[in-house]
Amino acid sequence: MAKMFIHGESVNAVSGQVLDVLSPVDGQKFDDIPRGDKADVDLAVQAAHAALDGAWGKMTALERGRLLMKLGEKVLAHHAELAQLEARDTGKPMATANADITVLARYFEFYGAAADKIHGHVIPFLNGYNVTVLREPLGVTAHIIPWNYPAQMLGRSIAPALAMGNAVVVKPAEDACLSPIRVAELAREVGFPPGAINIVTGLGEEAGAHLSQHPGINFISFTGSNEVGVLVQQAAAKNVIKCVLELGGKSPHVVFDDTDLDRAVPIITRGIIANTGQTCTAGSRLIVQKRIYPEMMERLAKQFSQIKVGTPEMDLDCGPVVNLAQQQRVRHYLAEAQKSGIPVLAQGSLASGLPADGYYVTPTLLGDVPPQHCVAQDEIFGPVLAAMSFDTEEEGIRLANSTAYGLMAAVWSENGGRQQRVSKAIKAGQVYINGFGAGGGVELPFGGVKRSGHGREKGFMALEEMSTTKTVINYHG
Ligand code: NAD
Repeated sequence: MAKMFIHGESVNAVSGQVLDVLSPVDGQKFDDIPRGDKADVDLAVQAAHAALDGAWGKMTALERGRLLMKLGEKVLAHHAELAQLEARDTGKPMATANADITVLARYFEFYGAAADKIHGHVIPFLNGYNVTVLREPLGVTAHIIPWNYPAQMLGRSIAPALAMGNAVVVKPAEDACLSPIRVAELAREVGFPPGAINIVTGLGEEAGAHLSQHPGINFISFTGSNEVGVLVQQAAAKNVIKCVLELGGKSPHVVFDDTDLDRAVPIITRGIIANTGQTCTAGSRLIVQKRIYPEMMERLAKQFSQIKVGTPEMDLDCGPVVNLAQQQRVRHYLAEAQKSGIPVLAQGSLASGLPADGYYVTPTLLGDVPPQHCVAQDEIFGPVLAAMSFDTEEEGIRLANSTAYGLMAAVWSENGGRQQRVSKAIKAGQVYINGFGAGGGVELPFGGVKRSGHGREKGFMALEEMSTTKTVINYHG
């Protein structure tokens, strides 16, 4: 049975209760995790405070950075093991799981190297004064992460927090917490002191809610759904602490009629089927200028009809989705599209011989989608691409901005002026021009506007989010 990780030790829940871990591949139980609750969260927060008062709090930025870099190396040394665990827990194809573990290591490498590069500064002030602005840790930081990229989300959230000297308490998603637990064990092996990294497993409404309301935490990084994001922000408000919310998306591609379709079509296809569409930045809306709409749909339909879905070991384009609720959600939206007479332009296929109780869904290209229809407005979180057409640049921009979300977008055009105008007019935290990559690189600031959330992770901006300043005004005469 998997265990939680508190104060450097692998432990069961205080209550002794457990939750089943089901495989997305066949719906069967393959492990247990502790069902942590208030008592376990209390212990984890205490352990984190003790770490700040002890060995972890006394470390220099250089020492913290070295530990993070060692953890990056350790993750690479355990690459195959972690990738297997991740694929087993989430159902991802092995190629995706392997790529995710490389990115996990990259977070520790990047923020390890950055730990001693964030400096305070000195402000010229009145005669007789010396004013210094110090950069300091926030204290105990809480990290509530989702199931779609458990390893990557762990690295993205805790690496900058640790680099800045915070002690972290992580609540991974109940559907996927095996890789975060293993990474915490590896962190102990490379020398992270007890309490610097704590992982509490359990249900969102129990362990997650207790953690976000805990008076002992000083910051929350939440990645997940909008509904829970609102609860987390309310909890943070009650304790008057800052939170970063990384929420959902309905990211558009705006494709103009001078686009290089040979380049665009495979990238756009990949952008919605990667991780079986369970990506916050999935390019799930396709907004195409009328003149090339028929040709683009024909080319995309060809690509979609070749998409194959299978088990992680088959290593095809898509795996199963993570759980039954997610499978039902994708099927619900496909049924809504059918009810409204939205044409299915192409679908992928399931490999033969898949276990009957696995959570498989069929990748689908929908054409002529009315912009206000739920398949064009809601985050489906599955491999479903909603395509529609537009005439003018203004209309393309208007459609791109016509959902509640603003996480990521792409503009496709060879016209330099248009690239600039449209990328500036689109409301999103990241805009690609003639390209698309889920969330961009570790180095690139990332986060949403509108209902996609607020605050920034990745890049150097995460180091600022996960630290605070103290201005010291010294009168020396
Ligand atoms: P979710 O909101 O259901 O769960 C996310 C985490 O919150 C889990 O750890 C869960 O246990 C916890 N949780 C649930 N209820 C809670 C509560 N009452 N209080 C505190 N914590 C609670 O989201 P999910 O279904 O796991 O993930 C899918 C969502 O995450 C999608 O909307 C997706 O867009 C979003 N997401 C966003 C990003 C981003 O960077 N913007 C990245 C990945 C996923």
